[in-house]
Order: sequence, then structure tokens, then C-alpha cells
Amino acid sequence: MDQLMIGVFGLTGCAGDQLTLLNCEDELLSLTEKVRWSSFNMATTTESAGRMEVALVEGSVCQPDDIALLRDVRERSNALVALGTCACFGGIAAMDGRLDPAVLEDAVYGQEGRQFEALRAQPLSTYVQVDFMLPGCPVEKEQLLETVASLLKGSFPEIPRTPVCADCVARENLCLVIERGEVCCGALTRGGCGARCPTLDMPCLGCRGPVEDAYYRVKRHFLGSRGVTREIIRRKMLLFSTPAGMGEILEREFD
Ligand code: SF4
Ligand code: SF4
Ligand code: SF4
Repeated sequence: MDQLMIGVFGLTGCAGDQLTLLNCEDELLSLTEKVRWSSFNMATTTESAGRMEVALVEGSVCQPDDIALLRDVRERSNALVALGTCACFGGIAAMDGRLDPAVLEDAVYGQEGRQFEALRAQPLSTYVQVDFMLPGCPVEKEQLLETVASLLKGSFPEIPRTPVCADCVARENLCLVIERGEVCCGALTRGGCGARCPTLDMPCLGCRGPVEDAYYRVKRHFLGSRGVTREIIRRKMLLFSTPAGMGEILEREFD
């Protein structure tokens, strides 16, 4: 088959997802036969303003330039993939809409801050159609490679549909909710990270977004029985999202 033209773009974010792609060093080399990078600022100086089969877009929309770039990329791509939690749900910059950009600018830059035109952080889907979401902060390397492999076959991959708790049980961790009464969002969060945080003795913060399953209410009641209120869970899960991002699922499933 001809080479697949992929562009990698970063809006406002920490570039962690692009770095994850760069860290696929060995695999990237073998991919060069099958993929042509139309844009990937962190890896190549080559940049094309033409059409591409796939755009991988990282970061959230936090400034007018992000909107312009995103719309241009959408127009030039057949498929657009939201890469990482910022792109999928708004990320830490969105934080339940709690962060006022003007207040942040003042806090960080003082008077100088007003020269930047900052918007409330939004996921890509607020502005353009997104064809596939690969969450994670950052994305998992294996899932990223699976995504590229599926794209080469003209499809999107299956990403884990089980909660972080499934990963946690597989690692034979003791449950932080049951053993220590901590507020761990693993039961409500999409797995696939290997329960990284509970394995390091830290509760899950829900950075991979909600897992869609039929047991949300049961889990809420379980957490409620341990003294964790709906509001505590909601605020914790929305650390990485606007209310309209993953919040919609929470509102629907959590009431
Ligand atoms: S999702 Fe996480 S790793 Fe990716 S850009 Fe946002 S903060 Fe960085
Ligand atoms: S520690 Fe968290 S992720 Fe692990 S089983 Fe308990 S609730 Fe689930
Ligand atoms: S355990 Fe939770 S917060 Fe930690 S990486 Fe996994 S999904 Fe993200």
C-alpha cells in the first residue's frame, strides 16, 4: 500500500503525547516505510500544508490560534484523532471549568498576562468533529502504536473497556478504598494504564476519563457507603475535563 500521510499537531498542552510518540524510537523507524509524516514539529522540519489521511491532535483549545489551527487541520484531514486527555476532554487546563483564564494569567504573569488572549480550555470536539479519541495523560505507548497500526489498515483500534480496577486486580494490589478509605476513582475510570497510580500507592484521579459500563450507580453507592459523596467524586473526575467533556457521562450515569 502507499504510505499513509499522518500529521501530528499540538495545541495547548505539555507535549507529553507527542513525546510518547517520539519515545517509540525503534517502532518509529520501522514505521517510516509505511508512514509519511506531513507535520510533526518535534521530529521533523518537513511540513506540508496539503491534505493528509490522518491528523493526530494533542492538547486542548485554550487560545484563538488553537481554534484556527484545529479548523485548518480538520479541513485538510480525512480522519482526526484526539490524542490524550486534553484533546479528548479538555485536560487539566479545563478542570471542570473552575479555572478562569484571566485569573490564571494574572497569577502567573501579572500585568503582562493581559497581552495573551486566553480562552477557557475546551476539548477538540467543542469546535470540530473528532473521529477517534485516545485518552491518557499521556497516552499509553502500546495503545498509540496500536492506533497507528489500525490506521494503516484503515480502521480504529479497540481501546480498553474495563475500569482501572480490573488492571488493579490483575496486579494483585490491595484496594485503597476498602483498605484505607481513600477516594480512588479507579472503578469509574477507563482502564488500560495498568493501574499505574494505585500500584504506586496513590488513588486514581480519573485521568483516562470515564469507563462506560452499566455499573456506575452501583459503584457510586459503594463509594457512598464508604462516606464518599457524589460531589467529591464528581469534582475529582472532573479534574481532567470540562463538565461537557466527560461530565456529560457523569451527569447521566451518576444521578
Ligand atoms: S493529556 Fe496530559 S500529556 Fe497530553 S498534553 Fe495534556 S497534560 Fe500533556
Ligand atoms: S485501589 Fe482504586 S483502582 Fe484499585 S481496586 Fe480499589 S478502587 Fe479500584
Ligand atoms: S491510575 Fe487513574 S490517574 Fe493514574 S494513570 Fe491510571 S487512569 Fe490515570
